Amino acid sequence: MGIFKVIEKVSCKESNGKIFKLLLRTVDNYLIEETIGYIHIGNIIKPLIKGSFHNYYHTFVCVSTQVGCPLQCKFCANQKISFVRNLSTSEIVEEVILAQNILGNLDKNSIKEREVKYGGVGEPLFNLTNVIKSIEIISRMLGNDTSFILSTSGHPISKLDDLIDILKTKKYYEVFLHVSLHASNNRIRKYLMNLEEINELFERIKLYIKLVRSPVILNYLIIRNINDDPKYANELSSLIITNGIQNHTIVKLSIPSFIGSIFSIPPPISRIMEFLDVLRSHDIRVFLFRSGGTSIAAGCGQLIAREQPQ
Ligand code: SF4
Repeated sequence: MGIFKVIEKVSCKESNGKIFKLLLRTVDNYLIEETIGYIHIGNIIKPLIKGSFHNYYHTFVCVSTQVGCPLQCKFCANQKISFVRNLSTSEIVEEVILAQNILGNLDKNSIKEREVKYGGVGEPLFNLTNVIKSIEIISRMLGNDTSFILSTSGHPISKLDDLIDILKTKKYYEVFLHVSLHASNNRIRKYLMNLEEINELFERIKLYIKLVRSPVILNYLIIRNINDDPKYANELSSLIITNGIQNHTIVKLSIPSFIGSIFSIPPPISRIMEFLDVLRSHDIRVFLFRSGGTSIAAGCGQLIAREQPQ
């Protein structure tokens, strides 16, 4: 338990000893989850000690920002859970403290990069004040080798405007924006996420790049028979090119890595490669991603909030 004592650890599951899922309980008895872990990034020879190798690690913590989520995207485990409330600043900070208790087993000098991702349960823009306050506290707590990822649907757009306003002045912490797009038009976005406003969203991404001077990751979960047609790769390329942001965006083409419903079935690999090739033919930067930790239901879209302990 950390000094804030606003949440407690209920259980910890582990996958390959490198990815952990923590089940946490708030003082008002709601359950939330977070994923934490580390990646070995290399053995580096210590120059002063002849023949000595040193292991280096990248650690990550994927925190939840709400109990339940108001958005209820069709491919997300929270789709069937009602939204309850925002997490407080202290609760979000406590998630990171509890994670450090586990990751703290790694030698401090071995950790080269720390990443705190606001990508667990909840849409961070709905809880922007507490998210930003928690970033300020965590960056002081963990030091300047920590970067922050804000993973957002971009909704509500007015809150994205507020985020741009907050981040456009030089900060002592670094925040990277990951936008959950998953569609190249309003029809599919409405179907998958109950969101539209795709043109307004791209206008804000363009503004973010200009004012915050930081690249943006566009996350596209490619789902069989829903958004995997190559014509959508052309449509997505056109959105990126007409907004003039191809040099400052990277498409993260996420392959569903667990079967939960028809919204998490990956297309055949040939279809994925076709989609990728269309994007590349337009000079769009793209990489393939498959979430880890799915064997313990700790992957992207698998974290969940529950109302009562089980
Ligand atoms: S994917 Fe994110 S925004 Fe969508 S319902 Fe799940 S937690 Fe909410």
